[in-house]
Amino acid sequence: MTGCTLCPRQCGKDRSKEPGACGVGDDLKVGSIVIHRGEEPPLVTGSGSGAVFFSGCPLKCVFCQNKQISHDALGTTITVEDLAQYLLLLQERGCANINLVSPTHYASRIIEAVKRARSAGLHLPVMLNSSGYESIDGLRSWGGLADLYLMDFKYGDNEAGRAFSRVPDYWDRSREAVAFLWKSAGPLRCDDDGRAVSGLIVRHLVLPGMRSNPFSVLDFLAGLSPEIPVSIMSQYNPCFYAGDLPEMHRALSKDEYEVVLERALDLGFTTIFAQETDSAATYVPDFMADTPFGDCRRIL
Ligand code: SF4
Repeated sequence: MTGCTLCPRQCGKDRSKEPGACGVGDDLKVGSIVIHRGEEPPLVTGSGSGAVFFSGCPLKCVFCQNKQISHDALGTTITVEDLAQYLLLLQERGCANINLVSPTHYASRIIEAVKRARSAGLHLPVMLNSSGYESIDGLRSWGGLADLYLMDFKYGDNEAGRAFSRVPDYWDRSREAVAFLWKSAGPLRCDDDGRAVSGLIVRHLVLPGMRSNPFSVLDFLAGLSPEIPVSIMSQYNPCFYAGDLPEMHRALSKDEYEVVLERALDLGFTTIFAQETDSAATYVPDFMADTPFGDCRRIL
């Protein structure tokens, strides 16, 4: 991580000396490790998903619901070997998969931990759960180590990425990333118990006033293939919004959400995951609570 280029920001920082734009240095820092049930159904079959939330983030979304971990980089510093052992522990606890949440800015360390865990008996599918702001080189670096990709596709134009996540090229990078992953990872595959084992799911959180430009996202995905599973999310929570657009200080309306679902149906998507429109709190783990909390069981 000297001259870091792990994400599309390409800031080239020597993270042993100072944090990059992702807010973290070269130590591996974990916000929380939980058994999480708030993901799409094929990802939580059985005991739930073994989620590792990494501290820091290359994006600085003004509505982030994990702000304590992503913006403030709260968390615990662990070694690569510690992480490998936690991955094995999540497997022992019966998790359906290993869910690496915001792994991009630690990719080299995490890859090493996954390799160690694999050689010590880890057989669960490993999932990259990413903001979608990825470089192709970064995704290639995972080689055959990742099986599942849960990719945000936050905005349907670069302007929204600038306004809400403070990066100039979100739409450009996320289109490249999704196209690459669709080609390399392909459709979602599940085992006989309905548990996801490989492939791609793309998520889009609809913002109030359609500020995320959802039609543009769906049109692009349908152009690649309507077989891409899309997860259309309604869980925007205005409590976390730190900007000054009046429209963003309210929840998404039922009508706004349904018109996006209808567009996805009209475009012929074969797999659509949807949420209840009053789901803002349901899917958000409370990282500061004692165990057990909400729909999660906390391990670290
Ligand atoms: S991972 Fe962090 S330090 Fe590396 S290029 Fe991205 S923002 Fe910069």
